[in-house]
Amino acid sequence: MKLSIVVPCYNEEAVLSRFDDTIRAVLAALAVEYELCYVDDGSSDGTLARLRSLAQQHRGTTRYLSFSRNFGKEPAILAGLRAADGDAVILMDADLQHPPELIEKMLDLYQLGHDQVVAKRTRHGDRPVRTALSRLYYRAVNRWVDVELTDGVGDFRLLSRTAVDALLSLPEYNRFSKGLFSWIGFDTVTFDYRNAAREAGETKWHVGSLVNYGIDGMLSFNSRPLRLAIYAGLTLASLAALYTLWIIGAALVGGVTAPGYVTLVAIIVGLGGLQMVMLGLIGEYIGRIYYEAKRRPHFLIKESNTAVPAPTPADA
Ligand code: UDP
Ligand code: MG
Repeated sequence: MKLSIVVPCYNEEAVLSRFDDTIRAVLAALAVEYELCYVDDGSSDGTLARLRSLAQQHRGTTRYLSFSRNFGKEPAILAGLRAADGDAVILMDADLQHPPELIEKMLDLYQLGHDQVVAKRTRHGDRPVRTALSRLYYRAVNRWVDVELTDGVGDFRLLSRTAVDALLSLPEYNRFSKGLFSWIGFDTVTFDYRNAAREAGETKWHVGSLVNYGIDGMLSFNSRPLRLAIYAGLTLASLAALYTLWIIGAALVGGVTAPGYVTLVAIIVGLGGLQMVMLGLIGEYIGRIYYEAKRRPHFLIKESNTAVPAPTPADA
């Protein structure tokens, strides 16, 4: 069998050579036929130059492609999956946070017939606030989203050819991998590992991008939030009706009294806010439809040493 390792790289100059050496050592020890597929996601540092020289150095086992600009990790993974032709594909980050020693374990589980072998990171070493927030988020998401998302499960996983082809047959423009992996299903096995600290370079995640990622996760997979908006509207309308009856009753019994200024302001502001949120929600969905409708390619390639197969028919 042949194993492909897909590695999205965005400004990873500092760690790339070390990553490459480490992985090759591990794979050589396993005596497995392999290829490394690097996707340069429009880096602004020397990542591309490094990739060119790695491809020179290890002809035949190195593919690379380079995007015309930074398209994001999801498109980079997609490009890597399209380019890879192994019987199994492992997705890994370039920063050595995904321990290469686990490749052996993944292969063993793959040989047992699993189509997705998922490495789940424990939140060991994360700040407690971050851990608690994540836990809360996943609990909420799993309530509202149709596919199951698990805390700690990311892109570090092995996919069989069957699973890869299934992923490639999903044509959507907005790709939320965590959800896609879960949506395709197939025989999946999960094991825990302890996340390593980033070896060099810096993380591309900030609080803002995490919040956006969170919203993506909720909206990418269903329209249940819209249903929630309807419920909220119905609840408020019922409360308003009850309150109106109560005021009329009070007026009939005690006569009309003037106060109520604070209540009025609170209601107007509160409802205004709620309407904004719901408009935003609808807008998000329409925005997504807009992007899907444009049918633009997921990425543009500036340079590569490999052919990237055209999208599968469902894509076109
Ligand atoms: N990455 C990418 N494009 C981006 C951001 C990140 O290809 O726009 C790659 C990055 O080079 C790394 C992986 O995605 O290989 C994970 O990124 P990072 O280590 O910054 O995320 P973290 O590990 O902090 O979640
Ligand atoms: Mg990282």
